[in-house]
Amino acid sequence: MNRPSEIFGSDVFDIKAMQRRLPKSTFKALKHSIEEGDKLPANEADTIAHAIMEWATEKGATHYTHWFQPMTGLTAQKHDAFFSLDKAMNPIEAFSGSQLIQGEPDASSFPSGGMRTTFEARGYTAWDPSSPVFIMTNGSVPVLCIPSVFFSYTGHALDKKTPLLRSTRTLSQSAARAIELLEGKKVKVGSTVGCEQEYFLVDRKYFDKRPDLIMAGRTLLGCPPAKGQQMEDHYFGSIKDRVLAFMADVESRLYRLGVPCKTRHNEVAPHQFETAPIFESANMAADHNQLVMEVLKKSSKDHGMAALLHEKPFADVNGSGKHLNWSMSTSEDVNLLEPGKEPHTNVVFLYFLVAVINGVHKHGGALRSTIASAGNDHRLGANEAPPAIMSTFLGSHLNNVLDQLERAESFTDDTISEIDLGLAQLPDIHVDTTDRNRTSPFAFTGNKFEFRALGSNQSISIPATMLNAAVADSLNEMNADLAKLENVDEKSIFEMLRPYITRSKPVRFEGNNYSEEWHEEAAKRGLPNLKNTPEAYTVWDNAEARKFITDAGILSDDELDARTSIRLEHYAKQVGIEATLTMRMVDNHVLPPSFRYQTEVSTALRALAESGLDDSVLATAKAEQGGHLERLTSAINSLLGTRKKLESAIKKVHEIEGEKEEAMTCATDLIPAMEAVRAHCDALEQLVDAQQWELPGYHELLFLM
Ligand code: ADP
Ligand code: MG
Repeated sequence: MNRPSEIFGSDVFDIKAMQRRLPKSTFKALKHSIEEGDKLPANEADTIAHAIMEWATEKGATHYTHWFQPMTGLTAQKHDAFFSLDKAMNPIEAFSGSQLIQGEPDASSFPSGGMRTTFEARGYTAWDPSSPVFIMTNGSVPVLCIPSVFFSYTGHALDKKTPLLRSTRTLSQSAARAIELLEGKKVKVGSTVGCEQEYFLVDRKYFDKRPDLIMAGRTLLGCPPAKGQQMEDHYFGSIKDRVLAFMADVESRLYRLGVPCKTRHNEVAPHQFETAPIFESANMAADHNQLVMEVLKKSSKDHGMAALLHEKPFADVNGSGKHLNWSMSTSEDVNLLEPGKEPHTNVVFLYFLVAVINGVHKHGGALRSTIASAGNDHRLGANEAPPAIMSTFLGSHLNNVLDQLERAESFTDDTISEIDLGLAQLPDIHVDTTDRNRTSPFAFTGNKFEFRALGSNQSISIPATMLNAAVADSLNEMNADLAKLENVDEKSIFEMLRPYITRSKPVRFEGNNYSEEWHEEAAKRGLPNLKNTPEAYTVWDNAEARKFITDAGILSDDELDARTSIRLEHYAKQVGIEATLTMRMVDNHVLPPSFRYQTEVSTALRALAESGLDDSVLATAKAEQGGHLERLTSAINSLLGTRKKLESAIKKVHEIEGEKEEAMTCATDLIPAMEAVRAHCDALEQLVDAQQWELPGYHELLFLM
């Protein structure tokens, strides 16, 4: 077994590999372009491409691909061989600078939200040198992957990476300006991101027998087992050998790809787990999270399991999220959200803290839209995941600091205390200044914010983009006031911050976000509560609400509209697939064993009647066993009734034109119709002979491995 530190990044052409393999001047040019975000000089590209090809072929790669993130939320690739024929038709390996820098996959089948009609199908990919090239091995075939942006012939961004890079640039400028005004020095600022990834594992032999898991990623039917997660015995429990072997394999693959895996543990629900890396720049973290998801899925197959990344694979069992830990850090490695020992005097920290809160308050609806999807709709607002209402949690200590700043009081605090465990040999333990409210969608956790409402299956790019943009917008607003100060001293800065603290106060909430009272309170405070995906996207109908994105050049109006239209279409398609699949499962998997079992029970009853048993015994049997048959029959009848309603709801959705209306009808008609069908299926699962019920049940999926 190799040490992680030895294999880390061995399949990445990282800065060390670049330095080793490139001529000095070329290395300098590339490093400059990575650090400053400038264009790479064309004459250097050929040299770099050649060095990359040599490195990749030594590792067995015969093909390369631009690896990009179209608006499907997945990654895409199209392989080309290094193999070529020279002028004299001799076979050679070749890779030019222009092939490294730009590719032209046929873009016609990627979603463009109407920005590019099919006859202008050309789309281009371009290498993003701030994310190094790497070798992905699938099966035993290594392929050189070149992280790229993807855009149309008309110059519109067709991917998720481009807006993220643009938002990072915007935030960087606004944050650097703030520091210049506050401290009179020039630094570079970037956003840092670390994402915790939750997932389920199920045994492949059961997975393969569930069409819903295969096609929709979640169970559309299935009655919850008698034992769920109520015993709370899984969270942080000891990890089963088979799962641990899988985790170790995943990590070793990820280390080679340069993903700095750090933490692994059991999660709350049975068969639910989490992995988290050390944080990195937002761009790298986004690429790496895509790799984490890919490797989880692929490796699980090798281990005879299936990794489920869906937000809600099982009803009545906790779903899976992704926590986007986020902060800002300077080129001098200062974390701008590090409170230090005395946050109340840490002006830079307070300035950025208020900027984030103000940004979330101003753009809560926009942030909410970035986490909206058919899968995540099952989680948000349920009593397990943060609600669809955006609010921030600071912890009592920082909350006090801001309250007292607002009231212009001098600072006193009795919320910090030491814990006395009564064990003399242990050092003094300070209570964390934040007490980790698990119910908040956006919580301050010591020296970073944790955006907790993301779905486990989604790319982090767009939520990170929106967060960067919201904070940049807030900083711009505050910087304008800061620039007007005659004296940039503590007192005047606090004076300047006061109205921002007051204005953004409604978004601060320290209580239980799951409670009914919070929903009422949030409504009083005027916070948006956009309950499902189609509702969430209405935020972009408001011209004012879009400006912070369009004015900053992060997404043009066209690009923003395209994304809305793609997301709504995707939502409707997904719900539509689930609805059709539900019908099929009813017809092929639920009704047949139910009818067979119904026949068996009625045959038994008839046989009993002819058995010659005593009349009184027969009368009781008729009542009791007949009652069983009645329940069974009425469940089948009810199922057939709800199935009919589902069928007409599907028909209704088909007849609707326009993606907004279609998505809305999916939410109002299709989903409730599916739920009604499910209830009767699950009742039948409880009644029917388990031998005949061929769909593996929750106990097999969640307790057998
Ligand atoms: P918890 O489960 O307690 O929230 P974890 O250790 O599972 O914490 O995950 C915390 C995540 O936050 C890790 O990925 C970590 O690298 C990341 N993180 C820590 N500091 C920062 C920071 N300054 N900016 C961004 N992410 C950070
Ligand atoms: Mg965690």
